[in-house]
Amino acid sequence: SKRTGRNRVTLFKNEMATQAAELLRLERDIMKAMFRDEFFFVLQPLVDSDTHRLVGAEALMRWRKDGEIVSPGEFIPFLEESALIVDVGERILNAICEYIADLIQRKMMFDDFKIAVNISAKQLARHDFIDCVSRILKKHNIDGTYLEFEITESVALDNKDDTIHKIDILKKMGISFSLDDFGTGYSSLSHLKDLDVNKLKIDRSFVNDITHDPQDEKLVRSIIQLSRNLGLVTVAEGVETQAQVEWLMLQGEILLQGYYFSKPLLPEAFESKYLTQEAA
Ligand code: C2E
Ligand code: CA
Ligand code: CA
Ligand code: CA
Repeated sequence: SKRTGRNRVTLFKNEMATQAAELLRLERDIMKAMFRDEFFFVLQPLVDSDTHRLVGAEALMRWRKDGEIVSPGEFIPFLEESALIVDVGERILNAICEYIADLIQRKMMFDDFKIAVNISAKQLARHDFIDCVSRILKKHNIDGTYLEFEITESVALDNKDDTIHKIDILKKMGISFSLDDFGTGYSSLSHLKDLDVNKLKIDRSFVNDITHDPQDEKLVRSIIQLSRNLGLVTVAEGVETQAQVEWLMLQGEILLQGYYFSKPLLPEAFESKYLTQEAA
């Protein structure tokens, strides 16, 4: 009837108003968070499947909001949507480079150790992204070789040529690249061909079921083979169990990352667990 129709419209309007209010609140909170410097990073180790030795770490963003820690799933989509990711991403990169400089100064940084940073397509698309990165490296007087940028295939969607060109320049600065979440989203083998990355990270959703889903098992085996044939280093992310580790170890040399080895840790905890014995 007309009546229920009208009610439905009202309900819809209310829902939209609530959503809009929530978004507005989130935006205000994020502006405050930037002003108060509430974003920080944690580090998760990457280990060699043969030796289980540390080869690098991924930096993951966190938000300390009113004493509670908020995970990126709750705010990164909003940051991306609003382009605030450019500012927040720059700050995180700066904080990571500052930390790398500090590790070098304390002689805690060993050869070939890299910290991987997630770079969103919006950041890479900025005309001044290269300038921004080189300014930060210069500011902390560090080499690009300590950094790895994790990108997803979505970077190839907008302006592929521009992306390819920027990756080329950043690689000349010593920064290496890793293709994240491989196999999900806008996956295409042409992206793999055109994006000149060093590593390929198999998405957690595939790794999850390798020990009990024959389909996923075959898929992961094929991805590892593909990656190897292309001369890339393969990373399996989201490794949680002993059985997964054992299965992955049989696939030849790859890199492993996941809760089985460690949850992402605050830099101080990461250092005392992984860096002290390795240095010197
Ligand atoms: P991602 O880049 O795919 O990062 C891996 C995610 O898997 C992280 O979630 C990590 O904590 C989680 N993880 C690692 N090992 C395991 C495991 O064994 N089991 C399970 N269940 N999860 C595991 P997190 O930290 O919540 O980050 C979520 C996503 O947010 C990231 O996915 C990345 O896309 C984005 N993100 C995080 N930090 C940044 C950043 O600084 N900049 C940008 N642009 N995006 C970021
Ligand atoms: Ca990542
Ligand atoms: Ca990933
Ligand atoms: Ca992801």
